[in-house]
Amino acid sequence: MREAFIAGNWKMNMTPAKGAEFATALVKELADCKSKVLVAPPFVTIPAVSQALKGSNILLGAQNMADHLSGAFTGEVSAEMLKEVGVSVVILGHSERRALYGETDAIVNAKIRLALSQDLDVIFCVGETLAEREAGILKDILYRQVTEGLKGVDALQMSRITVAYEPVWAIGTGKTATPDDANEAHAYIRAVVGSMYTKGVAESLIIQYGGSVKPSNVKDLMAMEHVDGALVGGASLTVDQFVPIAKFN
Ligand code: PEP
Repeated sequence: MREAFIAGNWKMNMTPAKGAEFATALVKELADCKSKVLVAPPFVTIPAVSQALKGSNILLGAQNMADHLSGAFTGEVSAEMLKEVGVSVVILGHSERRALYGETDAIVNAKIRLALSQDLDVIFCVGETLAEREAGILKDILYRQVTEGLKGVDALQMSRITVAYEPVWAIGTGKTATPDDANEAHAYIRAVVGSMYTKGVAESLIIQYGGSVKPSNVKDLMAMEHVDGALVGGASLTVDQFVPIAKFN
């Protein structure tokens, strides 16, 4: 049985004060939550949220990380810095990072390997654009992103990786992949991972769906065989929406 894993990507929302207040409310509301839950605030909000989450069952994530350990990389934040403020998981390869900040498969791969070497868990995002889906190359895109992104990651390290399938056309648009579409893509990702590693690695891999997940669609998505969790953007920003998503079961 794969554990349900619900993650909230706050993107560029929540100042430190607002983030701490929101995290405090989540701690109270999610104390009895059966799923594994994570929130990923913006960098400057992380320390305040870290304080608010202390002693709770909610994990702290970051939305990105530098691809170097330290040095002359203006504007970047290292794995060591993230760990020191309580981060245990880093989201890498998000489509906004790929599309808006030029992150290639090679950069995503370098970051994944670095995060793992620094004992950080990873939520590794993959997904196709609408044009790619309509061109019938969904599987080619997923194959390339998964195999390139996981290059050099060994079978043991795979227990620290969660894959998030996020069709780009469903992110922040209100359009959700149907549960069947999501399940088919997840099954394919699992098969690719199985071909790279072992059946056991593939079977235990947690695959989240991301793209306009809401309280109204989370149950149907989570009912699918290969959907093990959700990476939530917009609906992770209010108690009213995130709590019922996290408590879908
Ligand atoms: C995301 O950015 O990871 C995401 C899934 O966003 P939204 O839930 O707003 O579509």
